[in-house]
Amino acid sequence: MNRGTQLIHNGHESDPATGALGVSVFQTSTFDQGDLSAPREFDYARSGNPTRKALEEIIAVLEGGAKGYAFGSGIAAVSSVLGILSAGDHIVAAEDIYGGSRRILNTFYKRWGLELTAVDTTNPDNVRGALRPNTKAVFLETPSNPLLKITDLAACIGIAKEKGLLSIVDNTFMTPYLQRPLELGADIVVHSATKFLGGHSDVISGLAVTRTEELGQRVYAVQNGFGAVPGPWDVWLVMRGIKTLKVRLEAQEKSARKIAQWLVTHPEVNGVFYPGLDGHPGKSVHERQASGAGAVLSFRTRTTEQAIRFLSKVEYAAAAVSLGGVETIASYPVRMSHASVPPEERARLGITDTLIRISVGLEDAEDLIADFDRALRAS
Ligand code: PLP
Repeated sequence: MNRGTQLIHNGHESDPATGALGVSVFQTSTFDQGDLSAPREFDYARSGNPTRKALEEIIAVLEGGAKGYAFGSGIAAVSSVLGILSAGDHIVAAEDIYGGSRRILNTFYKRWGLELTAVDTTNPDNVRGALRPNTKAVFLETPSNPLLKITDLAACIGIAKEKGLLSIVDNTFMTPYLQRPLELGADIVVHSATKFLGGHSDVISGLAVTRTEELGQRVYAVQNGFGAVPGPWDVWLVMRGIKTLKVRLEAQEKSARKIAQWLVTHPEVNGVFYPGLDGHPGKSVHERQASGAGAVLSFRTRTTEQAIRFLSKVEYAAAAVSLGGVETIASYPVRMSHASVPPEERARLGITDTLIRISVGLEDAEDLIADFDRALRAS
């Protein structure tokens, strides 16, 4: 079955009891157990809910994994997956993972004894060089946020496998429609379903998928134990979003490509980052491991003032945090997604105050280009 068909036909296309073309929302906290000698599948909605179970099964099918788990946010998914590690374990992570993931590793998990080394994973040798005797996991994100750097998943996962380490991939920017890390050997995939999977900027949610049942049980123990679970309506919104993922992503990517190519030629623009652009250093690796360049790009203006003015002048893009919705969003990483990264570290990573990240929505590309041109020239 092709990936587009699978977004619709994944085991939950209709309700077996009623034929309804949608999963029911079970708005309940608990389940009447009736006869205690014959326990039911569900007993308490933190431990399991039929609506949530449907989404968990769908994402497991889409990513090609054994078990799926849903969380109350993307960062809850990341934190819960990291929760399977122990004090004294060491983790090697990409240095430009989502700022919130970096923050949880540098604060909460540091206090709980998890050691972190952040490296530039665009060169797999850096992953190998950072390994220690107590390294237990490698955490990757590609394309990276906000500079769209590309990590060779097969190469880095291969290093992890050689040493018996877990490999965890944040697949938020690509979704399983464009990239399937488990097929490349990863052990766990995480998502902010708030982004392209939900797709309409109306829900906060997260997902994790494990390669094996055994790993699934470890993640489930954290999901149930920490309890960072989503409510059934949020789960339902993500399932509805998944049904239209193909058309949204394809249209958004088409526009993103046009906009990136146009930005390259703009006199007020001082660098464009998009893995679909010729000349992007990671393009060939990305094309090998993903079937599209996605709908997120970033660019630098010439001055900080220009960047700030662009954000206030642009009309068809919300100056906002987040990405992956049908609405175009222009964000300012230094004050938004990466505000928690120390300034000197941001500067080292190239996350400058002239950098703007665009998540391209479903508006016509021509209108977005005209709008961006106006905002850039006004600035
Ligand atoms: N991972 C990536 C790549 C993200 O961009 C984000 C949020 O921007 C997250 C994880 C965290 O997701 P959430 O905001 O749903 O908690």
